[in-house]
Amino acid sequence: MENKKVIIIGSGPAGLTAAIYAARANLSPIVFEGFQAGGQLTMTTDVENFPGFPEGVMGPDLMDMLRNQAKRFGAECILKNVDSVITDKYPYIVSVGEEKYSTDSIIIATGASAKLLNIDGESILMGRGLSTCATCDGFFYKDKNIHVIGGGDSAMEEAIFLTKFAKSVTIIHRRNKLRASKIMIDRAKKNKKIKFLLEKTPIEFLGDHSSGLNGIKLKDINNNQIEDIQTDGVFIAIGHNPNIDLFKDTIQIDENGYIKTQDKTSKTNLKGIFACGDVQDSIYRQAITAAGSGCMAAIDAERYLEDIA
Ligand code: NAP
Repeated sequence: MENKKVIIIGSGPAGLTAAIYAARANLSPIVFEGFQAGGQLTMTTDVENFPGFPEGVMGPDLMDMLRNQAKRFGAECILKNVDSVITDKYPYIVSVGEEKYSTDSIIIATGASAKLLNIDGESILMGRGLSTCATCDGFFYKDKNIHVIGGGDSAMEEAIFLTKFAKSVTIIHRRNKLRASKIMIDRAKKNKKIKFLLEKTPIEFLGDHSSGLNGIKLKDINNNQIEDIQTDGVFIAIGHNPNIDLFKDTIQIDENGYIKTQDKTSKTNLKGIFACGDVQDSIYRQAITAAGSGCMAAIDAERYLEDIA
């Protein structure tokens, strides 16, 4: 088994920026891109806040550009998922299907995944009228009356995007104050197709496996009254969970469940293992902050490798 200097797990803005920097430092990084190559940005449309794109850029296009930039300097991007990482031996062993890779350092850039409500009907109706990705599934809801759950920027963004297809989009939020930024709230409020249903929380998704979702059981948070409402589709947009499964028994996490990094670095509690992007950031969670932290992780890995050489 050939020993690698650095293996990067994850291919969102954090992982690919780490790959650009590590490749330019002659570390010949391997990037395991995972099942969702490009990360969460491949599921968004216009990215308007990534510096350098005054007219905005499509999420998937931005990720293709970052990947091509990393490859240009010699990063190897592999469209496979890492199955396990052995961290009680050094060099570390990374298993990908039948293949095993030995490595002196690892950059974790596994990102975060959509949170679910964990209520009745959710698992059985997922993909049958229930979705966590407007960009992926919005097209199926042409001229339909649909609902978006959540009160943050994701919910506003999903709702605005869905108005391209749907007849109406109702945002259901559990409080009377939206968490989203003012600019996103203003955009949603200005959109004639968007309505708000506040101080309600879903307690069950209604429908069955064969005919799909047809309604939501909602609880009013003020008086606990229950009502069933009809819907043609629901998009859950209530935030994300960090993807830490590969390291859950070994890596230190913070009070929010994200990987804990030391001081102002990307260092974790494990020597030679660095974390960047949304898997270690419960606060900013932006593409640009993820990219910045990917740069930090590559520089930290480079310095670590110099120290042990
Ligand atoms: P978020 O800011 O954490 O908002 C999650 C929303 O879902 C909150 O309104 C929350 O309600 C609600 N929620 C959470 N759990 C719930 C549950 N069990 N039942 C009902 N509602 C629930 O997550 P986000 O919207 O994904 O945004 C994450 C970060 O990405 C933010 O920093 C955001 O600014 C950024 N972002 C930016 C853009 C953009 O600028 N275009 C787009 C997307 C995301 P409460 O408010 O009551 O807690």
